[in-house]
Amino acid sequence: MHTTGGIARGRIKRMSVVVYPTLGGETDRFKALYQQLDALSRASALEDIYHAALASLLEATAADRAAILLFDIDGVIRFKAARGLSEAYQAAATGYSPWPRRTPRPQPLVVPDALLDQSLAPFQEALRQEGIASVAFLPLALDAGVFGQCIVYYAEPHECTADELEMANAIAAHLALAIERKRAEMECVRSEQLLQAIVDNSATILYIKDPEGRYLLVNRQFENRFHVTRAAVVGRTDYDLFPRELADEFRANDEAVLSAGKAVSIEECAPENNEMHSYVWVKSPLAGPDGSTAAIWGIATDVTERQQLEAASLRLAAIVESSDDAIISKDLNGIVTSWNQSAERIFGYTAAEMVGKPLSILTAPDRLDEMPRILDKIRRGDRVRHYETRRRRKDGLLIDVALTVSPVRNAAGRIVGASKIARDITDHKQAEKQRAVLMAREQEARRTAELLNRVAPRLAAQLDLEKLVQEVTEIATTLVGAERSAFFRTGADQKVPAQDALHHFHLPGHQELIDRTLRGEDIVRRADVTEDPGHSAIPEEDSEGLPAIRSYLSAPVIARSGEILGGLFFGHSAPDQFTEVHEAIVAGIAAQAAIAMDNANLFERAQWVQAELRRSNEELRRVNHDLEVFAYSASHDLQEPLRTISISAQILERNWGQHLESDDTLFLKNILNASSRMVVLIEDLLAYTRATKYEEGPAPQVDSARVLTNVLESMQGTIVESGAIVTAGDLPVISFHESRLAQLFQNLIGNAIKYRSKEVPHVHITAAARDGWCVFSVVDNGIGIDSQYAERIFGLFKRLHSREEYPGSGIGLAICQRVVEQYGGRIWLERSTPGGGSTFSFSLPAGRR
Ligand code: ADP
Repeated sequence: MHTTGGIARGRIKRMSVVVYPTLGGETDRFKALYQQLDALSRASALEDIYHAALASLLEATAADRAAILLFDIDGVIRFKAARGLSEAYQAAATGYSPWPRRTPRPQPLVVPDALLDQSLAPFQEALRQEGIASVAFLPLALDAGVFGQCIVYYAEPHECTADELEMANAIAAHLALAIERKRAEMECVRSEQLLQAIVDNSATILYIKDPEGRYLLVNRQFENRFHVTRAAVVGRTDYDLFPRELADEFRANDEAVLSAGKAVSIEECAPENNEMHSYVWVKSPLAGPDGSTAAIWGIATDVTERQQLEAASLRLAAIVESSDDAIISKDLNGIVTSWNQSAERIFGYTAAEMVGKPLSILTAPDRLDEMPRILDKIRRGDRVRHYETRRRRKDGLLIDVALTVSPVRNAAGRIVGASKIARDITDHKQAEKQRAVLMAREQEARRTAELLNRVAPRLAAQLDLEKLVQEVTEIATTLVGAERSAFFRTGADQKVPAQDALHHFHLPGHQELIDRTLRGEDIVRRADVTEDPGHSAIPEEDSEGLPAIRSYLSAPVIARSGEILGGLFFGHSAPDQFTEVHEAIVAGIAAQAAIAMDNANLFERAQWVQAELRRSNEELRRVNHDLEVFAYSASHDLQEPLRTISISAQILERNWGQHLESDDTLFLKNILNASSRMVVLIEDLLAYTRATKYEEGPAPQVDSARVLTNVLESMQGTIVESGAIVTAGDLPVISFHESRLAQLFQNLIGNAIKYRSKEVPHVHITAAARDGWCVFSVVDNGIGIDSQYAERIFGLFKRLHSREEYPGSGIGLAICQRVVEQYGGRIWLERSTPGGGSTFSFSLPAGRR
């Protein structure tokens, strides 16, 4: 079944509403009906409305069952309330309406025999099963047309009366109004809720106040910001919420808005969590229905962070501008978006010239692919750090720069460009280059020094002057890579003829250059001597067939004394062969050569001196030997005639003594005395000669205590006769010839007893180690010696007494001194006072341990 224009086809009758006079018998029914309608009007819940409507319909139409269906928002009509209808039926009948939605001015439709009606054919089975025989459709419509329907059902075929229909229609009209009212109410609540939800979810702070400043509404942001609840705020003023000065300011601003009568933008500050926040308010008066001002509303945005960000970005901008580095930003196409003052200074372009232009303007010609590569990295989100490259300034000059390029992202994290910091490192690079040059020079100098240090010992070890000169020349030639070289020696002992060497070196026309060096003036280095002004044309080859010299280098060799020993000369047939380094090497070798030559000279001289010494020693030994032989043979040979004289004089005295005059006897006695003294003297002289004879071979180890014991035994007669007491301390083993030590003890102990005083002679012998020597001392209590004679007494034949006082010939101490000195030792009078005894000491080499 389908309907058009609200008119049903087939057997559905179009009904017109007829008003019948009220009959007395039905008063109760009407009463009940009115009550139902009254309840319908009063009901506030939709359910109650439906309930009252269904009850009224059943009451008015005597139908068994009834239902209310409404079009939903999707255009399908659905059961909203029903009486006596099964779920199955409701499901089957859902969606059916005789009138399309919003049909204007529809009329009720009655189907007295629903099972026969073709228009309801699709529902007949459902109708039958539900036991419905007749139905009446009552439209629910208002100005906007149909929005639903009421349906009443009868179990038997039923012709509705005009009353029934009119009543039902009136109920439907009531119901339509009640639903509409309810819907409007709900819509109102919903939109209020929506408004509050919107207001609450707004990021801004919002309020509405009445003209007196009392809050009517605040949103959640307001509550959160100022830590208040909506319930606590509504009805209060700013004076209840904020400090007085702030409340005064807010009130004054509100009043200004009210008097302006239009929306005003105001900046206010209010505390939040102990911090003052800045808000930008838009405040506006709100007109009531009658046009008068009913309220004032305000919406605020917290701009604290924005202001802080602005301040931070201003600071950042100041930093960027004041930076010494160029700070540039560009987009992902390489177009410059910002350009600071240092960028202007470094690259020469102004910001106006560069912003909006491609940064590739700065590309150095040899680095065309570099910027696209950097941009690719940036697009991938990578950073480029401390990248050293080259850029071209506006004036075309190429400069060295160090770059750091970082991607710039937008708030969503997407890379939108790059920031670039460029530092001009041209000076730095220059300094680095210079440093590298200096380092290289220093290394070269060190290498040269090491080389010379290695050369020095070789030269120093060479003490043969001729070989030295040759070696110096060879080493230097190798080190400087010369083709030709020469060492010219000057001075008195010059052995290499300068002219020959010069000829070999072959540099005609440059005598002055060579002379400068030989005068010791300076090192000379020429890249090409053929370009010298005084250069005379020289043949391509010299007489030896060697190519002519062009590169030239020479250095004087000067001794420490300042004496010029000669010069080192180097040449090469190619120009520009000798460098500063070669100059340094040659200077070093010349210095080493001078030292080595000094050494060699000294060595030569020392060798000469040594040879001289050896010769004179030999001479001395020969003379000594001759002297010894002479002294020995003289004393020996003298003894023979002396004995003849002595014996002859004795015979004369014996045979003729009593016949002689007294004077003659005296003369004879003199002869006898003189000859016997002569015998003693000659014996002493022989003893001295023997003492000066060096004992051959190394000195053996000898126990000095044992030697002393032997000596004392041999002197037993003298000791006993004089009553002397001889004692000794610990005496060591020493390296000495035993007979010599015995000689020393014998002489000194003999003297100690001989030169005794009136007291019993006491002699004490000690020994002590001192500085690697063994010092013996012989202490006596004799007559002592005046200190002025301390040296003299060691002289040959030197005595302090006459032979009558003390016999002797003054040779004992002289012998002791000779013996001790032959072993490198010393003898001296340690201590002595006349009448107070003497101490003689002598030092001998200590024995091996
Ligand atoms: P001589 O004993 O034969 O005279 P010396 O050479 O032994 O010769 O001694 C030289 C002199 O030194 C002695 O004449 C003596 O005057 C003095 N003299 C040596 N030893 C002693 C001593 N122990 N006490 C005092 N005078 C001494």
